[in-house]
Amino acid sequence: MDCIDRCGSAFRYCPKCGAAALRFVGSKLITCASCSFELYLNAAAAVAALITDETGRLLIVVRAEDPKKGMWDLPGGFADPGETAEEALRREVHEELGLELASIRYLCSYPNVYDYKGLRYATMDLGFVCKAKDLGAIQAAQSEVMELLFVPPDEIDTSRFAFDSLGRMVERYRAGK
Ligand SMILES: [Zn+2]
Repeated sequence: MDCIDRCGSAFRYCPKCGAAALRFVGSKLITCASCSFELYLNAAAAVAALITDETGRLLIVVRAEDPKKGMWDLPGGFADPGETAEEALRREVHEELGLELASIRYLCSYPNVYDYKGLRYATMDLGFVCKAKDLGAIQAAQSEVMELLFVPPDEIDTSRFAFDSLGRMVERYRAGK
C-alpha cells in the first residue's frame, strides 16, 4: 500500500500555509513542519453490486473509461460524503444502469487501490448481492459502460476484473452459494 508515496510526488506545498514543508508519516499521515497542518489519508468507501438475473447469471460491466478501460467491473462506485453504503449503491446502480434495486444484502468487503490522475487512493470496497426490480429496464450509461455481460458465476474468470477486490467478492459469492 504505497498511496502515501504517490502523494509525495503529487503534493508539494502545504494547502494551509503554502510552505514546501510537507512530511509523509507512516502509511497515511501528511503533516506540515511549518504550520502543523495534518491530513489523514483514510480509506475511501466504495460499493459494488453483484446483480443476478433470473437464471443466476451475474451482471458484469466492461469499463468504458480509464483507469482499467476494457476490463471487467461490477456496477458501483465511491460513496459520497453523508451517504450510507446502501444509498451509494442505489445511486450508483441507477446512474450507471438506470436500474432500481429491489433487494440488497451485504456480502463482504476487501481493500483496494485506485490510481487516478497521478494519485493512488486506498479504498474499502463493500460488496452487496442485489436483485433489480426490472432488469429489462437496464440502460447503460455510455460514458461509463462499454458493454454489459451476463455470465454464470462458475464461468467467471476473476483475473479479468479491473480490481482484485471485485474478483475476490465473486469468489466469496461462489463459495457461499
Ligand atoms: Zn503548513
